[in-house]
This record gives sequence, C-alpha cells and structure tokens, in this order.
Amino acid sequence: MLISKKLKEKVIIIAENDQQLLAEIKRNLNKHGFLNIKTALDGKQIFEILRSYYDAAEQIGLLIVNEQLPQCDVLVMCKTLSSNDTSLIPFVILGADDKKNNIENSEFTSQALIHRMSLPINYPVLLDTIAFQLIMMQERYLRRKQEELLINELAERKIVDAKLKYLVMHDELTGLINRHNFESQLRIILARSRMRQQEGALILINLDRFSLVNELEGFDVGDRLLIEVVGIIRKLTLKDDLFARIGSDEFCLFLDNSTEKEIKQFAERVRKSVYEFIFSCGDVCYSTSLSIGIAPVNMVTANQHPNEAISRARQACRMAKEHGRNMLWSYNETDTKVQERNKDLYWVPLIKKALLDKKFFLVFQPVVCLNNGEISHYEVLIRMRGLQNEVISPGDFIPVSERMGLIHDIDQWVVENAIDFLAKLPESSKVSLAINLSSVAFQDDSLLPTLKEKLSLSWVDASRLTFEITETAAVANFEQTRKMIAEIRSLGCKFALDDFGAGFCSFNYLKTFPVDFVKIDGQFIRNLINDETDQVLVKSMAEIATNLGKKTIAEFVETPEIIVKLKELGIDMAQGYILGRPEQELLASNSIALDGIARESAKPKRFASWFSEKVSRVD
Ligand code: C2E
Ligand code: CA
Ligand code: CA
Repeated sequence: MLISKKLKEKVIIIAENDQQLLAEIKRNLNKHGFLNIKTALDGKQIFEILRSYYDAAEQIGLLIVNEQLPQCDVLVMCKTLSSNDTSLIPFVILGADDKKNNIENSEFTSQALIHRMSLPINYPVLLDTIAFQLIMMQERYLRRKQEELLINELAERKIVDAKLKYLVMHDELTGLINRHNFESQLRIILARSRMRQQEGALILINLDRFSLVNELEGFDVGDRLLIEVVGIIRKLTLKDDLFARIGSDEFCLFLDNSTEKEIKQFAERVRKSVYEFIFSCGDVCYSTSLSIGIAPVNMVTANQHPNEAISRARQACRMAKEHGRNMLWSYNETDTKVQERNKDLYWVPLIKKALLDKKFFLVFQPVVCLNNGEISHYEVLIRMRGLQNEVISPGDFIPVSERMGLIHDIDQWVVENAIDFLAKLPESSKVSLAINLSSVAFQDDSLLPTLKEKLSLSWVDASRLTFEITETAAVANFEQTRKMIAEIRSLGCKFALDDFGAGFCSFNYLKTFPVDFVKIDGQFIRNLINDETDQVLVKSMAEIATNLGKKTIAEFVETPEIIVKLKELGIDMAQGYILGRPEQELLASNSIALDGIARESAKPKRFASWFSEKVSRVD
C-alpha cells in the first residue's frame, strides 16, 4: 500500500521486550522507508516517549506493542491513547496466541484504530497494516479538525446572530431597551391604558451638558457617566417599568397607572438622586443633573401614536432646559407653540442677516485614502458667526432653516462659495470638495441652473465636486431626487450617500441611488475597537458597497487603532479628528503620514484642536 512521505515521517514506537525481535522489526521497517522509530522495552519507557511528544502528539504515527509487555496493561493503554477524544494513536498488538487474546472482545476495539497480529510476524502483512492504520488515522484526524472548525464557526455565528438580535432591541451600552423596542411596547401599553381607563405618564430624561463631558474627557468617560446615571435611575424604578435609552443622552420611562402627583414625586426623586451624585474622572469632578419632561397620558392622549407622546415629553424636557436645567417640566400645549415660535423667531432674522452680512463661512475636513494616506478630497462644512462673533455649528441653524424655508438660500450659498474656493486655488491644484446638501435641496428648482452657471463661469471641472446626500434626502420625493441626481451626474459631479446605516433602509437605497461613495455613519465607527457587532456590521457594509462598485468612507475616525481596524475591514477612506479637524485652510500637503499617526498618541492633539475650534452649542 502506497503512503505519502509525510506519513512515513511519523514516529513509530515499537514496544517489545524481546530485544532480538525488536531489532528485527526495526530493521524491516527501516528497509521500507519508516526511519523515525523509537523503541521501548516496557510500559514505562512507552510513556516516557509519549511524554516527550506531549506538545506534538500529532507527530506520533503508530504504536506496535507486544501484548505481554512488562509493566504495561495493553488494554488500558489502548483505551487511553486510541479511542478517547483527544488522542487518535493507532495500535498494532503483537500476540503469541490469537485465541487467548483479551482485547479482541472488548467493546471499544471497533472504534479504536487497533489491529491484532499473531507471532511470528508476517512482515508484508505488518507493513500493509501500518500503512492502512496511518492513512485511517490521518483521515480521522482531518475529520475531527473539520468538525471542530464547524463547531467553532457555528458557535461564532450564533454569538453574532444573538448579538445582532439583541442590538436590534437593546442599547448595548446600558442594556436598556432601545427606542424601536420602546415604541412597540409603548403602543401596547397605551392601548391597554385606554381600555382600562388608566392614567400614566411618559417621562423623558436628558442628561444636562453631557456633550461637554464627552468632548472634554472622551467617549469612554461619557459612556461611563451614562452607565452610572442609568444605575441610579434604575434603583428607583420597578422591575416592570418600561425604561429605554432613546438617544445618546436621552432616556424614556413609562409610568403606568399612577396619578399626576405620584408621577411628579417619582420624577423629583430621580432628579434629586442624580443631582446629589458627583461623577469623578481622575482629578476632575463633574456635578450631574437632569432635565426631565413629563407628558401625562390620559383618556384623550392615550389615542396618540407613541411617537407623539415621546415628542410631547421631549418638548417638555426642552422647556426644563430653557428654564435653567436640573428641573421637571410638564407638557403644556401653549408652552410648545410658544417655544418653537420663539426659537424660530430668534433664529430666522439671525440667519437672514448672516446671509446678507456674509456671516457664514466654510471649513474643510480631509478625507484620506487608507491605502496610501493621500487626501482624496475635503468635506465642506458650514459655520455661522453669531452676534458676539462666536462660531455657531450647523446643528443649531440648519434644522430651523429647513423648517422656515431658508435652507435653499444656504444650500446655494454653500455651492457657490465652494466652487469659488476651488476657482481661487492655483490652476495646478487637483483638490476636490464634497458638499452637503440638505434633505430638501432637490425641491429647489434653481439649484441645478445655479450649479451649471457657476461651473461654466469658473472653469472648475465638475468632477472636482461630490454632493453628499442623506437617506432622508433621498427618500423625500424619490423620483424627483433620482432625476436631479442623474442630471447633476451627467455634468460630471459625483455623489455620496451620507450617514449610511443610520436609517432603516440604507441597503435598499444603495441599490437604487447611483452614488460613488458610501459614508458609514460615525455611530458604527466611534466604538469600533471594543464593539464586535460594529466590526461585523462595518465589514458587511464594506463588502456590499465594494461589490456594488462604491468607495467606502468611515466618519468619526478618532484614534490610530480605528485606522488600523478600518483597513483590516476593507474600508477605503477615513475622515475624522485624528486625521484632520474641519479648518478654514486646506492642509499644506496632499497626503497624511498614516504610519506617523499610528505612533502618535491621539489625546493631546484632541484637546489642543478642540479649543482651537470653539463651537457654541445651544444644548
Ligand atoms: P455630517 O455631514 O455627517 O458631517 C460630519 C460632522 O461630524 C461634522 O459636524 C464634523 O465636524 C463632525 N466630525 C468630523 N469628524 C469627527 C470626529 O472625528 N468626531 C466627531 N465627534 N465629529 C466629527 P458639523 O460640521 O457640526 O456638521 C453637522 C451636520 O450639519 C453635518 O453632518 C451635516 O448634516 C450638516 N451640515 C454641515 N455643513 C453643511 C452644509 O454646508 N450644508 C448643509 N445642508 N448641511 C450641512
Ligand atoms: Ca456629510
Ligand atoms: Ca455623516
């Protein structure tokens, strides 16, 4: 029987106390190419040899042993070495007399790799037996390896599946249910309250100035603060109370079957407990407080959609913030209207004036290719100067502008100024820009003519512009959006799908919208290193986008470790504070030394640049 060279190199142990026979067997095996032979004269010596291969058991090929070997219970040895779960060593047992053999009948011989052979030895038969046993052993070994691999793979898949399922329903950080789960349960509870004519309340809790801790101390510390605050609130709730995390620093609680007075007393206890808690972080202590909004649920409001109840509680919470934070506020219809009108009334003239007085300006943040550190392009982000010359971030004025119909002017202003910026660069410059478009940009009929005119007047090549749209923008007015995208693309501009993964149907839109880049939402990137689920999700987003021929960009890249991980997961480009903050000037070089960043510590840089771009937020 022919066997491979590799199998012939396996160790064969011959255990025989008749030295003459031992030498004869060895000679015969050597003659047929089995050169790796160890010999033993008794059971003790067998175990010494085996012990020397303790860490390399797979190198042992076979054991030829005399049934009458001194200091050896052959049956027990076969049981341990040949048929147990960890060892697969085959045996050839040499016996003086076939009939007296006590091994033949034992129940395990059929599964174990054991062969009996009578004396005197018939060498051609022995050699065939050895070859057969070695091949069988190898097959069993391979099969066992495959089984193990399969089991591991299944276990891994089960963990990921379970994690994804859990993630769909829960907030991973705090273990509370998430917004989606909360809404579905709230729907049932509201219906029950209606039937039983019970009253209750939805309580929305927001951590005051949470973004400050996050930005000054980093997300890890922010996460710890959230966990501690949730722990405090949890102690005051009952086991069955519906308690959810519905936003980064926003929590919702539903109190069933309670009077208005009871609800207020409970909310006050929550406020007070968190206010008394001091959060320490190294040498620094932060005092914590909550703004709490209460939306009573009664016979009338129980008819509401859960979203409506949440929105009322949020409006009440906003009132608590406006009245100085660290307080409760109950929902009141007039409050909200007044509040929204006040907010809009406050912002609208400011925004209009800013447009007239040129109080807007653009900042640029690099998007870097992960394979070579080259800057692919810069994202253009808008800023506004307030009355005290402070810098106001778009989060504060873009939503109001969208509500109040001022956004088209802003979108046009950004497009025009971004093109002007490119036109002013030296002729040899290859810099390209990505411009954010609001969710209603495509409803503006004059955007396309403005773009065309600006491009033709400036001689800026259209391929140097990418437009970033979000899913919300894409969904609103689906057909019109597709048409506009097609027209703008025909000019030579590119498109990116922004905040990818943040919505529900992201993959669907990826198929439908002809975009060149997919920007994976920062929420999947921030905790990438510690969160295996995020890693699985980012990897599959990268695979799908790449298969569809799109380039992937990861946002919110804040540490060198994330850069390394992103490369591993197959992401093409990255954008984030570690690579470059949004600045009014472009970087001097058109590439970034990624290796250098990997060596540098991220922290000091983060502090330094945080203070260099002071953004005032109305929290
Ligand atoms: P976006 O398009 O998702 O922009 C990314 C935001 O993340 C920017 O905030 C950017 O400064 C910030 N960012 C970048 N890297 C990091 C990082 O490593 N960590 C963290 N924590 N944040 C990072 P910004 O400039 O405040 O913009 C917020 C949003 O406002 C933008 O989100 C975009 O939706 C909108 N926006 C900004 N500029 C414009 C504009 O010119 N026009 C329109 N219509 N919307 C704009
Ligand atoms: Ca963007
Ligand atoms: Ca984004």
